This record gives sequence, C-alpha cells and structure tokens, in this order.
Amino acid sequence: MSDLDKIVSLCKRRGFIFPSSEIYGGLSAVYDYGPLGVELKRNVRESWWQEMVYRHDNIEGVDAAILMHPTTWKASGHVDAFSDPLIDDKASGMRYRADQLIEGHIARLTKKGKDADAERVQQALVAALHADDMNQALYDLIIAEEIRAPDSGAFDWTEVRQFNLMFDTHIGPIHNAENKIYLRPETAQGIFVNFLNVQQTSRQQIPFGIAQIGKAFRNEIVARQFIFRMREFEQMEMQYFVKPGAQMDAYADWKEKRLAWHQSLGIPAHKLRFHEHEKLAHYADAAVDIQYEFGIGWQEVEGIHSRTDFDLGNHQEFAGKKLEYFDPQAQERYVPYVVETSVGLDRTILMLLSEAYREEEVSGAKRTVMRFHPKVAPIKAAVFPLVKRDGMPDIARAIEQDLRLHFNAFYDEKGSVGKRYRRMDEAGTPFGITVDGDTLEDGTVTVRDRDSLEQVRIPKDNVVRFIEDRMRSWTPPED
Ligand code: ATP
Repeated sequence: MSDLDKIVSLCKRRGFIFPSSEIYGGLSAVYDYGPLGVELKRNVRESWWQEMVYRHDNIEGVDAAILMHPTTWKASGHVDAFSDPLIDDKASGMRYRADQLIEGHIARLTKKGKDADAERVQQALVAALHADDMNQALYDLIIAEEIRAPDSGAFDWTEVRQFNLMFDTHIGPIHNAENKIYLRPETAQGIFVNFLNVQQTSRQQIPFGIAQIGKAFRNEIVARQFIFRMREFEQMEMQYFVKPGAQMDAYADWKEKRLAWHQSLGIPAHKLRFHEHEKLAHYADAAVDIQYEFGIGWQEVEGIHSRTDFDLGNHQEFAGKKLEYFDPQAQERYVPYVVETSVGLDRTILMLLSEAYREEEVSGAKRTVMRFHPKVAPIKAAVFPLVKRDGMPDIARAIEQDLRLHFNAFYDEKGSVGKRYRRMDEAGTPFGITVDGDTLEDGTVTVRDRDSLEQVRIPKDNVVRFIEDRMRSWTPPED
C-alpha cells in the first residue's frame, strides 16, 4: 500500500474523510468530512483566520456568495481563459492534462537518474507553455518524447484542446443562455467586487487586505490523489491592496509570513519550499508557490501572486463603475495593485495528514499514530477511567466535562487502556489522562504524551493548565 492509500484508509476507518454520497458509489473527486475531519478542518480554518485577520489590524474579513453576477467571470478572464490543456487516450477514452503528462514524464526521468534528459524536457515544457500555439506545442512534445498513457500504456493520442474548468448552472426557472451562471472557481473575485464596500465601511486606508474562506468549484480534468485535487474544495484567500509600485515589498513580506504560518502548524522547514512559476499569468508581475514534500513529490499548497491592477481594472471597465481609492494624504486617486495569498484548505489538510502519519513499534507492538500539532488535533485530550468501578468513571467524567469548557475532549471506558490509547493515537489526540487507584487516594492522574509516550502524574485540578502549556510549547518530534 502506498503512503497515500494508508492515509485514505485511516481517514475512512476513523472518520476523518469519506467519499461523497458513498452509498451510491461515491462522486469523483468530491469528499465529505467526518467527525474527526471536521474538527481538524475547523482548527486549521481558525488558525488561518487568527493569523490573517486578528493579527493584522489592516485586514478585514468577508463572506461573499458562491453565485456571482456572470459578468464577474468575463471581467476576471475565467470565461475565456480558465481552461486546462486536455488530451484523450484514444485506446481507453481516458482524459489527461497534457502539461501533467509531461511533468510525470520528467519526474520518471529524474527518478531514473536521467537528469540531463529531465532538464531538457523541462525546458521544452516551459517553451511549449509560452508558445503562441500552446496546444500544438504540448502535443508535439508528447509525441516527440513518446509519452504513453499512464493507464493503458497506449501511444494513441487525440489533439490537445482547451477545456474550461468552470461548473455552470442557471439562475431562476428559465434555462437559457442569458440565465447561465457559474459556481465560483475561486473566492478572490468575491473580494474584488466588494473592494470599495469593505474599504468604505471599515474606513481602512491603503495598504489593507480583505480575507475570505469559502468553497470553490473546478471541473478538474484529472481529479485524483484524494483531496489533493477536488472538484469542490475550500480556499482561504487574502487580497492585499497596495499603492502601485509598493507591490514587490508586500509580495516579499507575504511570502515569508505565509511560509511561517505553515511551519506554525507543525510542518518542518525542510519539507516546505518556494517554487517560482514557470509561466506567469499575463496579468501577474510575480508569482510563487509554497510547496510541501508530499509522498507523491513536491506539490503546491499555496500560491502567492502579485496581480497588478488587472482584476480591479477589469471590473471597473466591465461594470462601468470606478473602483479607485482616494489617498487622503497624497490627495490622489488610483486603482490599487493587489498581492494575493491563496491556500487550499483541503490541500493543507492533506499536508497535515501526510506529515502526521506514522507507523511505529512500541514495546514490540505496532501502532499507527497521527502526530498532529496539538493546536490542530481534532481532540485535544481523552480521559479514561482505569476500570469501570470504584468511582473512577465519575471522576473521569468530571475531568472530561471540565476539559470540554476549554477544548474538544473525549471520554472512553471501553477496552483495555492500551487499546484506548491506540484509538486515540490514530485520532491524533495528543494527551491521554487516566484516572486510577492513586487518583482516589491523592487526587492525581497520569497524563500520557502521544509522541514521547512519557507519562507524568499531576493533580487532576491542574490538567487544563498542563495541557494548555504543553500545546503552546509543542514542537514536531524528531523521527
Ligand atoms: P493547480 O496548478 O494545482 O491546478 P492552481 O495553481 O490552479 O493549482 P490556484 O488557482 O492558485 O491553484 O489556487 C490556490 C490554491 O487552491 C492552490 O494552491 C491549492 O491549494 C488550492 N486548489 C486549487 N485547485 C484545487 C483543487 N482542485 N482541489 C483542492 N485544492 C485546490
């Protein structure tokens, strides 16, 4: 089983993530979060919001609707250009993204130690992505490199053509072209169209940012690798509005801040890196990805883009309404430039699941443990009575109730203590509190640390403070 398969299996078994509408066989690349997954997701969302909105007095939040006026997507360029290069394997009918087929080929060359070939194809890919006829150039490269279809092994391709990734639907009872609208493919546009509403009501002055967390929808051509590439997913985006000319400083600043946030979730520095874009979107003057080293290789979790005045400028033109900022100090008006930070919530969850997953041997027995940073762990502490008598369950219940006033806690009296620990290890619960015979005598309990397995005895009344201190000082354990 690959590492990813093991994570998928644990997610299902323990209630982190289920396939959507599973009783009907699931829906491709759509997933539901179960009881543990929803807690993990809430904690990550909360951490992002705190970092972006509460720690910056010049960042405001919004929650825009998923459905937007259809002209939004003309102005943003999505109707014309939000597409991926699609190619079909004639033998199997399977569809692939042409650029990803080539990237896979490069990865295989690198794996085989053919670094010079990998570099040559990489350069050819960059050239193809910049070519006037990108579709033809990608096709030619696939043919020249004799890249075969990953599933059938055939070498029988259609031409490359562009496929628009937006889901559409109709608003109101009449299904005609005028009533066609889209499910938003990114949350950013809900921020741009509200730029003046937010600026004027919050009385922010430039530079300032607007943050949003919400669902986005993309009809991805190839959706695989679990929640890495989904058709319905959640984004956490922040658009930072600056004076034209100030964008590069803001860009450099946000790059560092965003990298630090990923580390604050317990991701070690050596598993994160910046990756410059091979091809800048026509409106961007700088763009970088933050990548995490997944089991499947280095992959993007977040994009940081300097988008100039492209979006606000276009909305101004399409809507026929000024979206200018008046600078009271300089007494001048201008359309601000924008630096955006855009991170996938689900992809962050996959990063955390991948980083946390460990199989270990503890005193001769195997255990699977999810070593989440305690601040994102779905359950912070579990309380166990050693046995179901002598008043131990009542004391344990009382501790659990007290803990629940502060964070998510869990009570378990079923099975041996060892088994209860194992269940909590799989859920990623950092602290296990056991009420035993000594508790009856002197009011102390044992607290077991999920990572070090160290057990300490502390007075039961100090459990909350002890856990809060440990959560604050937690660092990722060495392997
Ligand atoms: P990719 O190149 O992987 O398709 P992208 O560059 O189009 O991604 P952006 O439009 O920059 O991605 O979106 C910002 C973030 O949203 C990404 O870094 C990723 O974390 C997340 N994201 C984008 N598409 C998906 C998807 N289909 N499923 C899950 N998360 C996604």
